[in-house]
Order: sequence, then structure tokens, then C-alpha cells
Amino acid sequence: MRRPGGVPRSVSPPANPKRAPRPAPAPLTPGETAAIESSPFMGLGLSAPLVRALLEEGYVTPTPVQVEVVPHVLAGRDVLACAQTGTGKTAAFVLPLLHRLTATPTTGAIRILVVTPTRELASQIDERVEAYGNHLGVRHTVVFGGVGQHAQEVALRRQPDVLVATPGRLLDLLQQKIVRLDAVAHLVLDEADRMLDMGFIKDVRTICAALPARRQTLLFSATMPPALEGIARALLRDPVQVAITPVATTAITVDQSVVFVAKADKRALLERILRGAQVSRAIVFTSTKRGANRLADQLAQSGIESQAIHGNKSQNARERALEAFRAGRSHVLVATDVASRGIDVDGVSHVINFEMPNTPEGYVHRIGRTGRAGATGTAISLCDPAERGLLSQIERLIRRRLPVAGAPSSGPARPAPTPVAPSRNRSPDDARP
Ligand code: AMP
Repeated sequence: MRRPGGVPRSVSPPANPKRAPRPAPAPLTPGETAAIESSPFMGLGLSAPLVRALLEEGYVTPTPVQVEVVPHVLAGRDVLACAQTGTGKTAAFVLPLLHRLTATPTTGAIRILVVTPTRELASQIDERVEAYGNHLGVRHTVVFGGVGQHAQEVALRRQPDVLVATPGRLLDLLQQKIVRLDAVAHLVLDEADRMLDMGFIKDVRTICAALPARRQTLLFSATMPPALEGIARALLRDPVQVAITPVATTAITVDQSVVFVAKADKRALLERILRGAQVSRAIVFTSTKRGANRLADQLAQSGIESQAIHGNKSQNARERALEAFRAGRSHVLVATDVASRGIDVDGVSHVINFEMPNTPEGYVHRIGRTGRAGATGTAISLCDPAERGLLSQIERLIRRRLPVAGAPSSGPARPAPTPVAPSRNRSPDDARP
């Protein structure tokens, strides 16, 4: 929960001036202990309290960037990683750094510094630190520009172990001697190419000069332009290089398309797609929980067996729905974004965006449910006129335009589809809001 002025949640003010003891975490049930011990995250070398938090987040398997990066960070190496938002890169650096942080007693000084270009990213990372560090008692805070400084000063006085910051505000605070960075042992430069594009690199260099030379440095960037390579050489020591297939191509095995359709016609189109011969197992995404329930009911009334899964359902109900889906008893799962995080089902032939995701990263996340482990998959987005802006954002993120399809054919048994696309060849400005 945020406090006014953009100050993040941090551990409540200490009763003694140094540290407040944290309440002991609830004891684990035998089932939880077994789940932690058998988790692949444990196999990466992460501690049980971290893995416990991940299971609570619904993470089942590490993403490729996590598999590649976590062991190197745990081993203390510098890392230069090419990875985009949506690949799970935040956890790839936050998890092993929290593991390392809590391996030694707290010192009351900032030991992990994450520098990232925008306040949104800074807030998101800080939230992840909170979520992943839930059972660790780590103090953290976030500072960024565009809001008053006072509340951030107060938060900094509470001796965070982890600071997430945008470069400009951090430099201001550093120059005013409100923040000290002389105990930073781990530095993360996140979205470094964007910091370069936004003209922050000089600030970043100045900040780095205020850090101890003996430190671990991790640099994450979606692209590696030559200017950044030079900076990386100057800031990193003998880095392990990791290149994760960019988000734009993680879905290379996923045949993606968009269908322009009026909102009122979406359901009929969806039913036609779902009755298609090649749809063996489909996840249909809606943007609201209520929408998911309604759609699952309507599909059922039309004779399409489906289950809804979202955050309002009990854990048991979610597991039952997933089990029915996995076992093939129902071949359609209607899900919201949050609920989809923990879905780890192979053989999903289709992902259908009944409503476009609110964030472009959400799109990448959704379509990643199909085309897994090298299998091919199909992702169809049903885009109504009000959703064109969301589509543009997605296309910017994935750096390609989605081919426009008519209502997809469902095989020989189906009547000819009604074309719903205005045109196959869109001009660059075509109906873009
Ligand atoms: P990021 O690339 O760090 O922005 O992460 C994208 C999204 O993936 C976030 O919503 C994370 O919560 C989620 N995420 C990260 N790692 C995993 C995982 N191993 N399993 C499921 N979701 C994950």
C-alpha cells in the first residue's frame, strides 16, 4: 500500500531507533513445506522464505531469464543481460539479491540499489521487493521525481536495505547528502537502454562514482546499442553475458493475429472460433472477474464447456477448474490476467483475448500461455474500436504489427467465416487513435 506522496510501504516505524523486530511468519503446513522443497526455485539455490513467497505469488516454474541469471547472481558474478519487460527479469535480479542480502546481518545502510528510468518501473520493482521479500523482513523504499521529496526523506531515514530509484531524484538526494550510497554492495541498472535514450546516462555515471568500487553490478537492457556496450564495459567487471530471446520473439512459435470486431459481436465470434476443429485447448482472457464469470456462463449455455478462473475464486475452486482443464474435461478456460499467472498447462492450442489486456506486457504474458516449450500455438485478439489504443501499445512493445485476420476459419466442418476486418492491408495510420 502506498502512502501519500509516493512513499512505498515499508516496515512500520521502529519502536527502537534501529530496527523493529518483525512478527514471526506463520508456521508452514506440511503441504507447504513439501511444495517449497520440491519447487524448481529451490533448485536454483534460493532460500525457503523466498520460495515460499513465490508460491504465494502463484509462480510455479522459473522463466528462462530467471534460470539463466539467478545462479550467477547468487555466485556473486556481474551480469550483463539482454532481456525485456515481461520475461520475468525483475525477479531474476530481485530474488538472488535478496537471498544474498539476508545471508549477512543487516547493517542499517543501503546495500542494494536498483536504478531504473521511470517512476512506474521504480514502483513496480519496489512492489516486487515487497512481495518476494515478504518473509524476510527486508526494508526497502523507492524514490522518484515528480512528487514531493519530504516523504521520501522520511522513508530514507528508516534505514532501508534496498533502494529503488530513478536517476534524477537519486542524484538530487545524493547531492543534498540525504542519501548515502557508500555501503552499496549490489547495483542493478534496469532498462539501461531506456536510461540512455532518456538522457540519464550522465546521471547514472555520477551515481556510480558515488558507489564503492567493490560491488556486484547487474545491467539489464532490452537492446544493447554500441553506446551502452561502452558503458557496460566501464561499469561491470568480467560480466557473465545472458541473452534472453526478446519478448517480441519469445512468441515466435505463436501465430498471432488481431480481428477487428464490434464489442457486441465478440461473443458470437468467440463461439465460432472455439467450435473450430483446431482448437483443442483454449484460454480466453477477459479484463474483469465479473466478465470472466459471465462469459463462462454464456459459453456453457451455448454448449461450450468452460471454467472461469480468477482472483475471487477460492484456491480450491481455482485448482478444480485448472485440473478439469488440464485433464481435458473442459477445453476452455476463461481467465483474468492475475489468475493466469500461475497457469502452467502444456498443450494450450489457442489464447484468445476476448478483451485486450490493459498493459502491453500483459499481452506478452497472455500469449506466453500457448506455444510453450517449442510447441506451436495461436493467439487471436478480438479488438473493438475502443481498444485500438491498447493494440498500438502492444505493437510498440513487441515491435511489430499484428496481422489482421477475418474471423478465423475453424476447419472444413464450419460455415464460412464472416469477414470482420475492415481491410487486410492497413496503412501506418490506419484507424489508429
Ligand atoms: P517482468 O519481466 O519482471 O516485468 O515480469 C513480468 C511479469 O511476470 C510480472 O507480472 C511478474 O509477476 C511475472 N512473473 C515473473 N516471474 C514469474 C514466474 N516464474 N512465474 C509466473 N509469473 C512470473
